[in-house]
Amino acid sequence: MELNVIVLGPPGAGKGTQAERFARQHGVPKISTGDILRDGIKRRLPLALVAKDKMDRGELVDDGTMIGIARERLDRPDATGGFVLDGFPRTVLQGRELDRIMEERGSGALIVVDIAVPDDELVRRLASRRICSKCGTNADPADDASTTCRRCGGALIHRSDDDEGVVRERLKVYVEQSKPLVDYYRDRPTFRTVNGAQSPECVAQELEARIADAVRVRAGLPLGAQG
Ligand code: AMP
Repeated sequence: MELNVIVLGPPGAGKGTQAERFARQHGVPKISTGDILRDGIKRRLPLALVAKDKMDRGELVDDGTMIGIARERLDRPDATGGFVLDGFPRTVLQGRELDRIMEERGSGALIVVDIAVPDDELVRRLASRRICSKCGTNADPADDASTTCRRCGGALIHRSDDDEGVVRERLKVYVEQSKPLVDYYRDRPTFRTVNGAQSPECVAQELEARIADAVRVRAGLPLGAQG
C-alpha cells in the first residue's frame, strides 16, 4: 500500500526537516507547497509572484491556488507510489480536497502526523532560522557560525517571512486556520501526535515509530477507509 503521509504542525515545528528525512529514508518524494511557491518566485512565475505578497505578510495563499499546485504535483509519476506532504493541507477545505484526490487515486487512508511544540519555543526557533538561498535546505540551528549550505554550498539567508512580527502573524494564522485541520483528522485511526520539543534525532525516531504503528493499523482497515 502507498505510504501517504501528511506532516502537520505549526511553523517552526521542524516539519520540513523531518518530512525530508523520512521521505529520503523511505524512497518517496517530500512535497512542500512552500518550497514550490519559493521556487516559482525565483523563476518569476506569475502565480507564485501573486502569492509572494501573502507569504511576506505571513498570510495563507488562497485555497484554489494551493489545491491546483498540490494536485499538479501529486499527479507526477514520482508521487504515485506515495509521498510525504509538508505544508499542505493547511485548511479544512484543502484537507477535504486531498481526501477527494486520495479517493480518486484509490489510495488507502492517509497517515497524519502532528508535530506539537509550545508557542514560545516556536518564536525562539523561527527568529534564528536560516535557509539556503539555492536549494532551500534548513541550516543546522546548532551551527550559528556557518554562512554556507552544508548540502550545496549556497549562501544561507534569513527567510523573508521569518521576522518576528511576521512570525507572530504566521502563528496566529496557524491557530485560526490550520488548528481546525488537526481536529478534522484527530479521530482517524491513522492520526498520530509527535512531541516536537526534543532534539531532531529524537523527533525523527518518534515519528518513525508512530508512522510504523499507523501503517500496521491501516493494514487492518477496509481499503479506502478514511477513518
Ligand atoms: P512554508 O514553507 O510551508 O512555511 O510556507 C511558506 C508560506 O507559503 C506560508 O506562510 C503561506 O503563505 C504559503 N503556503 C505554503 N503552503 C500553503 C498552503 N497549503 N496553503 C496556503 N498557503 C500556503
